[in-house]
Amino acid sequence: MSQMKPCPFGCCSEPQIIDVKQSVFVRCTGCGTTSLFRCDYGPPKRNSAHYASREVARSEAIEFWNHRPTEERLESRIRELETVLGAGIGGPVKAG
Ligand SMILES: [Zn+2]
Repeated sequence: MSQMKPCPFGCCSEPQIIDVKQSVFVRCTGCGTTSLFRCDYGPPKRNSAHYASREVARSEAIEFWNHRPTEERLESRIRELETVLGAGIGGPVKAG
């Protein structure tokens, strides 16, 4: 099973996969936040993403839960800035 990120809404609790009536989604065990993205499998239903099998639906539900574009962009920017700062240590002394 894929590694799942902790809850993004401040409580940082572990999420759990909920699988009921051929629908898979993710819920935080701390605050109860539920992923809005429901992945159905089995016979087609209306108004939700539908997948060929339970395994694919679970995988997609986890991927959606883990998808954090803003967080990933900020982490990337922090790494860039750390590189710049690290390169600056021992570098030219600032005039003045
Ligand atoms: Zn939570």
